[in-house]
Amino acid sequence: MLEVNEDSIKLREEVFAYARKRLEYDPAPLDGPQSPSWLREKAGITISEQGLGGSQALEIFSEILAPATISTDHPNYLSFIPSAPTEASKLFDLIVSASAIYGGSWMEGAGAVFAENEVLSWFAQEAGLPKSAGGVFVQGGTLGNLSALVAARNSASQRLVESGKELPSKWKFICSAEAHSSLKSAAAVMDVEIIKANVDETGHLTGASVSQALAAAGDGVFAIVATAGTTNFGIVDRIDEIAQVANENQIWFHVDGAYGLAGILSPDSKHLFIGVEKADSLIVDPHKWLFAPFDACALIYRNPELARQAHTQHGEYLETLTESGDWNPSDYAYNLTRRPRGLPLWFSLATHGVAAYREGVKKNISLAKEIADVIRSRPDLELVREPELSVVVFTKADWSLRDYDAWSNKLLARGQAFVVPSSHKGKPNARFAIVNPRTQLKALIEILDSMDEEG
Ligand SMILES: *Cc1c(COP(=O)(O)O)cnc(C)c1O
Repeated sequence: MLEVNEDSIKLREEVFAYARKRLEYDPAPLDGPQSPSWLREKAGITISEQGLGGSQALEIFSEILAPATISTDHPNYLSFIPSAPTEASKLFDLIVSASAIYGGSWMEGAGAVFAENEVLSWFAQEAGLPKSAGGVFVQGGTLGNLSALVAARNSASQRLVESGKELPSKWKFICSAEAHSSLKSAAAVMDVEIIKANVDETGHLTGASVSQALAAAGDGVFAIVATAGTTNFGIVDRIDEIAQVANENQIWFHVDGAYGLAGILSPDSKHLFIGVEKADSLIVDPHKWLFAPFDACALIYRNPELARQAHTQHGEYLETLTESGDWNPSDYAYNLTRRPRGLPLWFSLATHGVAAYREGVKKNISLAKEIADVIRSRPDLELVREPELSVVVFTKADWSLRDYDAWSNKLLARGQAFVVPSSHKGKPNARFAIVNPRTQLKALIEILDSMDEEG
């Protein structure tokens, strides 16, 4: 039976005990993947008519399944973009789950939506957007970029229709040649053309390059996207120059800051983001560099009404909501039912204060600069680019992909670190992405040293 009973009350304690154990790890074991056949054999049959009972299911999770998942908050998890949620944010995620809050509408989730909006307003203010800015927390940056671009195209299309002009045969948007893969996906989903403008020799998209791409594109360009911190390198495009081109041409300006826009919080790096205040929309992922758990992307619009017009779903059973005039988060992205996934960040920000966040981000950037100095001092290592935020990419002389792979596998197998090889212009490299305040210089140096081990 699905109702609460003696067994489930006992299970409650077991689950809380396990959650407590996870939280108390310092650090959690790094762990690593296993093959499907290994998992099939060890986990056995878990889905059956009778059920296993919670205690046994929990044991299979804690003993077999959990160790086959990497702890992305391990301080030496340095691949892709790690995640380093504060304990406050993790704890509050438990509360969100325990509370069954519907975060799609004001009618159902007013208190939660209010708190999420406080966070969105705070970040909009950090970015210099007007008070009227607002948006929604969506699942991730991929969905955030798509939703912003859909709003942009809808707005461009409405403007043409209102002025009696013809729609272009193909819609297009411009972004950097080094922009995130999600933009290409968005273009495919929207059936629009993606125009990748060249970057300069240091990896930045510039105003001049965007102007050139725009001139070559012909009509139908509905958005220009700047990347505020590329995923591969943490390079921040020349946002102010690009904003100016977009404004002069009355084209929607979107800033993809999924990873890097959190860098605006550090007084030392705030200047890199000048121009973001001119954005029509922006995204930043709290699960990347705002110390919140998976999965959350803050999607913010200068003029949320334009997004509402693009995204509101109309259905008979939804009419009381759509006609209420309330602020319904679902109306601002490609989504309907939603968990109030901004709440863990709200709670953590309310708990720690913004200054602690500025400090955390600043510390990561300083650490990236420190390890870059060490890399520069070693004759066999070479930085691929100067780090701007908290991503450091380097090569080792004479290493092939096979050497990087062997080294990476060794680090994971002994639970030391998770550093997968990356590549640039066809050449393999090693990459540290640092978003965890617990990552230490000493541990990074040990990882560099391990490149010189025999075998
Ligand atoms: C990670 C990333 C995305 C995609 O975000 P998800 O949350 O993984 O969907 C988009 N843009 C940039 C710049 C990113 O770093």
